[in-house]
Amino acid sequence: MLEIKNLHVKLEDEDKQILKGVDLVVPAGEVHAIMGPNGSGKSTLSYVLSGRGGYEVTEGEAALDGEDLLAMEPEERAAAGLFLAFQYPVEIPGVGNLTFLRTAVNAQRKARGEEELSSAEFLKIVREKAKTLKIDSEMLKRPVNVGFSGGEKKRNEILQMAMLEPRMCILDETDSGLDVDAMRLVSEGVNALRSPERSFLVITHYQRLLDHIRPDVVHIMANGRIVKSGGPELALEVEQHGYGDLLAEVG
Ligand code: ADP
Ligand code: MG
Ligand code: MG
Repeated sequence: MLEIKNLHVKLEDEDKQILKGVDLVVPAGEVHAIMGPNGSGKSTLSYVLSGRGGYEVTEGEAALDGEDLLAMEPEERAAAGLFLAFQYPVEIPGVGNLTFLRTAVNAQRKARGEEELSSAEFLKIVREKAKTLKIDSEMLKRPVNVGFSGGEKKRNEILQMAMLEPRMCILDETDSGLDVDAMRLVSEGVNALRSPERSFLVITHYQRLLDHIRPDVVHIMANGRIVKSGGPELALEVEQHGYGDLLAEVG
């Protein structure tokens, strides 16, 4: 379970406060969505949880299964079961997708004190997962994300997620201009990986994505805080009326 309490974050080298007291609990097995106007701090929240540099936590805490996330190195967070899929997946020329996946999986196993997978074991698992996710084996051999279409990148992101078997998946789809097909891929991937032990935090501008993913809870973020939480109907309200009324209502 992810538990965020009163999280305050500022830019490291500027006197700019971005998160101003975020409170959020995502219990095991649940899917929570975060929506909110541009610039409200949604991406910053996912970056800070992943341990990306450039930000300073000035107050508050964030824990995964009771363990202090903010005290961990980024690799330790991944080993603890945190997975982040980002708006702009990196291209890694010269590194084959299979090699990349195997390195990521084994790094995670090592950090957990588990044996590394042999080449044969790894291949068996990756082929099974790729098949389930309808991923062409040709894509596994290509350099990571290089020349991938938007849809292929999304598929690859879902495959990475499936291979790492995270406890907590954070997807930041804001501003990424997901087309209908990519949206379907993301939602099918998330739905396929839903389980009672796994939680998702889906950051999105698009109510339509939530038609397919069906979140348990929708949160609205504005000006560095979660200002309202509710059921899936909250996303519909935003779609129909925009953020104006909602934000006026919460002050
Ligand atoms: P959202 O994802 O909700 O659109 P962001 O987290 O991207 O919001 O940004 C929140 C605010 O923080 C914005 O005003 C943005 O310009 C600012 N911000 C975030 N990261 C940086 C940065 N590295 N440098 C300068 N400003 C930043
Ligand atoms: Mg933005
Ligand atoms: Mg963003």
